[in-house]
Amino acid sequence: MNKIIKDINQEIKSLESELIDLRRDFHKYPELGFEEVRTSKIVANYLAELGIEVEKNVAKTGVVGLLKGGGKGKTLLLRADMDALPINEKTGLHYSSENEGIMHACGHDGHTAILLIIAKIISKYKDLISGNIKFVFQPNEEDAGAAEMVKEGILKSPDVDGAIGLHLWSPLKTGVIGLKSGPLMAASEYFNVKLQGPGGHGGAPHKTIDPVNTATSIINRLKTIETRNFDVINEPTLITTCKLEAGDFPIVIPEEVSFAGSIRTLHPKMNQVKEKFENIVEKEAEIDGLNYEIDFKCGNRLLDNNLEMVKVIKGAVAVSRDKLTIKEKGIAVMLGEDFSEISLKVPSAFYFVGTGNANKGTDYPHHHPEFNIDEDSLKIAVKIQMLSILRYFNLI
Ligand SMILES: [Zn+2]
Ligand SMILES: [Zn+2]
Repeated sequence: MNKIIKDINQEIKSLESELIDLRRDFHKYPELGFEEVRTSKIVANYLAELGIEVEKNVAKTGVVGLLKGGGKGKTLLLRADMDALPINEKTGLHYSSENEGIMHACGHDGHTAILLIIAKIISKYKDLISGNIKFVFQPNEEDAGAAEMVKEGILKSPDVDGAIGLHLWSPLKTGVIGLKSGPLMAASEYFNVKLQGPGGHGGAPHKTIDPVNTATSIINRLKTIETRNFDVINEPTLITTCKLEAGDFPIVIPEEVSFAGSIRTLHPKMNQVKEKFENIVEKEAEIDGLNYEIDFKCGNRLLDNNLEMVKVIKGAVAVSRDKLTIKEKGIAVMLGEDFSEISLKVPSAFYFVGTGNANKGTDYPHHHPEFNIDEDSLKIAVKIQMLSILRYFNLI
C-alpha cells in the first residue's frame, strides 16, 4: 500500500476518539440556522490553532478556512453544514441536547466534526499539495444558507476549481457510499395559491362562485403535470399540496381559499413546470370567474453531480481497500440540499455516507426526534474525504 495512505490510516485511527468527542459536543449544544455562535467559535479556534487562515462571520455565523499548499495549483472547496433543527430530542443518549427544543436530527454535528479532523490531518501534509484547500463551515443548511455564503464570495479569492460535500445518510447502511453523477437531490419551489370570489349560502351555490370546488379541481389537475407533461422516468417531477385553508362554517361558501405546497424536480426544467402550473391555475380560475394569486419561493436548486468529480471520489473508495460498497441506483431523492448553490457554479460532487445500523438504532429517518448516527461512519467519511483530496491533487 502507498505510504501516504498507510500514514493517513494511522492518523485517522489515532484521532478517532477526538472525532467522536467533537461530534458529541456539537450534538449536546445544537444551534439553529444563522445562530451557530458557539459552534462557529469552536470551529474558528480549531482551524486557527492548525495554522489555517480563518475568516469569521461569513453569512452571519459561517467560517471559512484557507490552507495554502506548498506549491501553486487548483483550489478545492470542502463543505460542512453546522445547523440543527427545532425538534425535541427523544434519543435518550447521555450526550442528548442541552438546548431545549433544538436537536441535531440531520447529522450536521457529524459533518462539522468530520471536516475539523480532515483539516487537522491534511494540514500536516500541506507541503505536498500544489494548490489550496478551502474549508467551508456553513450555517443554516436547512433553509438555504449556502446561497448567502456564495453571495459573500466563498467561491472567490482564490477562485474555487472544484468542490466536495457529503451527508451522513441513515437510509443507507454503514459501509455503503451513495454516489452517482447527474441529478442527486431535487430542485424545490414552494407555492402558495389564493382564490377569491363573492362567497354565499351553502344551500344556494348556483348564486355564488364556489372557490372550494375550484381549489380541489386545481389540486387534482396539478398532479397530472407529473406524468402528462414530463417523462416520468427521465424527468421526475413531484407536486405536493400540504396545506389547504377554506371557510369556517358548514353552510357558508367562503370568499377565499388558499393552498400551499412544493414542486420538486430531479431535472433542470423547473421553469417549465411552473409555467404549466400557472397555466392550470389561471385557466381553472378563469372558467369559474374567480380572482387568483400565485406566489412562488425558491427552496433549493437542483444538485447535479459532475462526472469528473464523482470519479475522484470513486477512485478514493477504490484505493481505501475498506469493505465499502458504492450504491449508484435508487439513491437520488426528492429532498433538497443547498450544496447545489456551490455545485451550480463549480464542478462538484456530493455523496451520501451510510450511517444506518438497525442494531444501534441509527436507522431512523432524518429530522426524526430519535434520529442518531452510527459513529463508525464518521471515520469512513474522514477516510473517503482524505483520499479524495489526495486524488484531486494527484498525490495517489
Ligand atoms: Zn436536514
Ligand atoms: Zn442535512
